[in-house]
Amino acid sequence: MGGTFNPIHNGHLMIAEKAREQFALDEVLFMPCGVPYMKDARDIEAGEIRAEMTALAIQGNPAFTLSRMEIEQGGNTYTYETLETLKQKNPDVVYYFILGADSLFHLEHWASPERLFAACHILAAVRDGRTTAQMEEKIRSLRKHYGASIFLLETETLDISSSDIRRKISAGESIAEDVPGEVAEYIAAHQLYRNRT
Ligand code: ATP
Ligand code: MG
Repeated sequence: MGGTFNPIHNGHLMIAEKAREQFALDEVLFMPCGVPYMKDARDIEAGEIRAEMTALAIQGNPAFTLSRMEIEQGGNTYTYETLETLKQKNPDVVYYFILGADSLFHLEHWASPERLFAACHILAAVRDGRTTAQMEEKIRSLRKHYGASIFLLETETLDISSSDIRRKISAGESIAEDVPGEVAEYIAAHQLYRNRT
């Protein structure tokens, strides 16, 4: 599961756990990205900080592991390259890429979507406003155009986003419902996201 994780939150953890349960995954790798080329880098905490928050968030789940691969690589990271590298290193492993509805609808605009689809199965979770019917339609079209292997996860909809968490922190609102306690404590101790929008 890749993401900016700026910060990691309960929505990420929930879809990862549902994916693990529903597809009997042995392990879920949480991989914070390097500098994401589609987002404004000024609004993003350093990779190591996002990785530390991720480590705290997943420490209670033995099937969850942090991967620093993309942040160590630095610069733009492309999901298809990361998956191709993982597959080269571990040729016997079958990879599933876990994502939310917004990412599913944007996948075709990512670098080399055909190589991404060739390297992994996709597990997609509903999110903000997208209906299951819209997602099934999108999945059919990606299957048809790319031969992509995409499955819909059965999850509740959790209305949580990192951008809303950053907004809440700068507005002095509580994020206790949105992130694990250890992550909230880390954010407070390091005074992250205080003066952001
Ligand atoms: P931001 O608001 O900064 O974009 P985000 O909450 O979308 O942050 P990302 O790190 O961008 O978090 O997301 C990583 C992946 O997790 C994406 O595929 C995204 O669709 C998915 N995701 C994030 N939050 C949720 C959620 N609440 N429900 C389902 N999927 C989610
Ligand atoms: Mg996002």
